[in-house]
Amino acid sequence: MDAYSSKITKLVSELSSLPGIGAKSAQRLAFHILNMPPEQVKKLTDTIMDARTTVHYCKECWNLTDSELCPICADPRRDKTTIMVVETPRDLAAYEKTGKYKGVYHVLHGAISPMLGIGPSDIRLKELMTRLQGDVHEVIVATNFTLEGETTATYIGKLVKPTGIRVTRIASGVPVGGDLEYTDEVTLMRAVEGRVDL
Ligand code: ZN
Repeated sequence: MDAYSSKITKLVSELSSLPGIGAKSAQRLAFHILNMPPEQVKKLTDTIMDARTTVHYCKECWNLTDSELCPICADPRRDKTTIMVVETPRDLAAYEKTGKYKGVYHVLHGAISPMLGIGPSDIRLKELMTRLQGDVHEVIVATNFTLEGETTATYIGKLVKPTGIRVTRIASGVPVGGDLEYTDEVTLMRAVEGRVDL
């Protein structure tokens, strides 16, 4: 027999379906929520719903935003002729945290993986090529140093080179197979500074 009534069990089960939330954390969160004042719970659920319904992709770089353009693309001080290609908005956030990169980004939302059946048309490569028709001087490929990230980097190199635009790959100061998100800012910036032509 269940120790809790079905509504509590349901709340625990919904929370445990979130990434990084195990059964124990889900239980702790559930009881915390049940002890919160109702108006605070409403504020939380309204915030989640509001973000979910208003956040979409930047029409330029495919970062997440609640405006037409993300804050980076909308910033006139950013160098629009340099585009750094990353796999996810979280990778973008990692480079932004360095505060050193002055160019703009392009978020692929994935990487090519023949094993998982993810091909070039499943990520935002076509959109990247469209952007290259504008005034672009360099494409910095900052995909992860995993098999998928490397495959994607090679593919982008082959796509971009014929356009005459410089295409570079960040240096492998980033731990091999490591997620960019977890790499410290100094290492990330060194990887960008030490980039090599593809
Ligand atoms: Zn953008």
